[in-house]
Amino acid sequence: MKILFAASEAVPFCKTGGLADVAGSLPQALAKAGNEVAVILPLYQRVSDNWKDQMSFVCNIEVPLGWRRVYCGMFRLDKDGVIWYFVDNEYYFKRDSLYGHYDDGERFGFFSRAVIALLPAMQFMPEVIHCNDWQTALVPIYLKDECVRWSEVRGIKTVFTVHNIEYQGRYGKETLEDLFGLAPGWFTDGTIAMDGDVNLLKGALMTCDAITAVSPTYAQELRYDYYAHGMESVIRLNAGKVYGVLNGIDMERYNPASDPRIAANYSVLSKTGRAAAKDTVTPGKAQNKAHLQEEMHLNLAPDVPVIGIISRLVSHKGLDLVCKVFDQIMSLNCQFVVLGSGDWNYEQFFEAKLGQYPGRMALYRGYNEALAMDIYSGADLLLMPSKSEPCGLAQMIAMRYGTVPIVRETGGLKDTVHPYEAWCGAGNGFTFADYNSGDMFYVIRQAVDLYFNKPNDFQQLRKAGMTEDFSWDRSAGAYNEIYRTICS
Ligand code: ADP
Repeated sequence: MKILFAASEAVPFCKTGGLADVAGSLPQALAKAGNEVAVILPLYQRVSDNWKDQMSFVCNIEVPLGWRRVYCGMFRLDKDGVIWYFVDNEYYFKRDSLYGHYDDGERFGFFSRAVIALLPAMQFMPEVIHCNDWQTALVPIYLKDECVRWSEVRGIKTVFTVHNIEYQGRYGKETLEDLFGLAPGWFTDGTIAMDGDVNLLKGALMTCDAITAVSPTYAQELRYDYYAHGMESVIRLNAGKVYGVLNGIDMERYNPASDPRIAANYSVLSKTGRAAAKDTVTPGKAQNKAHLQEEMHLNLAPDVPVIGIISRLVSHKGLDLVCKVFDQIMSLNCQFVVLGSGDWNYEQFFEAKLGQYPGRMALYRGYNEALAMDIYSGADLLLMPSKSEPCGLAQMIAMRYGTVPIVRETGGLKDTVHPYEAWCGAGNGFTFADYNSGDMFYVIRQAVDLYFNKPNDFQQLRKAGMTEDFSWDRSAGAYNEIYRTICS
């Protein structure tokens, strides 16, 4: 099939969050599965000159946006079986950050218009346009507007993926015609209206052919106000076209057997026959633990479990639960390492605890990818007690590196982490359901007990995580099914 993927960021060109990882990996996997795939992105100042030098100029056109006629250039780059198109307008995109500008609505209104207006110049008439988050939410709406008079685009279907429903593209009613160039009917019939405002996300949810959320559980959760940030009724109204597809991770980049970023490589040592049940992880894992303990000035204790947190330190990551029972956790025989930055109160909390637990607790405030890899490879347990988690990457990366996750059962955490079942040794981690510090502590203690008292079962959990399939190929298969369903 012919798929055009529209996004506001993608690895390796520009990244602020998880959307960039999806937009950087999924198109390749879709191409590998036999589709013709193109991606369209804004040409930000942040895209490095190295990439810009490899692009070729395709065309420039004028894009109508309300009463404006706006310059729009297009560049092209071919990479990994995917065509990458870049929309050029220096006024909108030559800025030092991707988002957070007073005119973001206008910038991404322009980008969404350009996605449609550039179709003839791409010589790539897609069967599906796959849009992502509020920045491309206007694409399905503009497409519906255009297809009244433009027969070539009439058959194009749209998929809209919700990566995080919190950001909705909400603007005053007056922007409808003046800024976005849409007829008043879109507002008066409620399609794009929410609480008296223009809501771009709602418009996309109402007009696209399929809505996907980044995990099956998140797709279910979006029906409830606790998770949907006011959009629950719109999701319920469109329930018949809502799907959940779990994101993947780059299984080659995150491969403990070959990753040059970690202290020692390791893998699952497979045994055959009767001994297979006793598969173990090769000794490299222990070397990584020693490296982590040394680097973070923790006691060099190979037999004490290390619990890690790698996270933005913000409230929806469930850190208030950790703060509440932190001393109880430290009363167990364990070490604790935190990597992250964010809210001042959490940073201060962990900072203050350092002096109380010398040699047993470590903290790095900030973003540090190298240290993240040391924790993924060196820790024994990774704690993610999130209030909500659309998909979550950290738990998948941790499992790939044999670090057993402890998570709350929400969103993608619930879909990827299956609780340890003592009676048969099944599962790949530890989970708790209610957002409650007592329940969280209960499973942390269970995990530490298992580490000390049933080391073989603990090894099995490591192995189960390391052998999970979190590849993008699996996600691409699920998206292919959805594309086929809406085009049939
Ligand atoms: P979110 O996108 O909500 O922040 P995810 O678990 O989906 O959470 O993705 C977070 C990603 O960012 C993971 O790859 C994690 O390793 C990385 N990360 C988070 N905080 C840090 C940090 N302080 N330093 C390095 N990497 C980090």
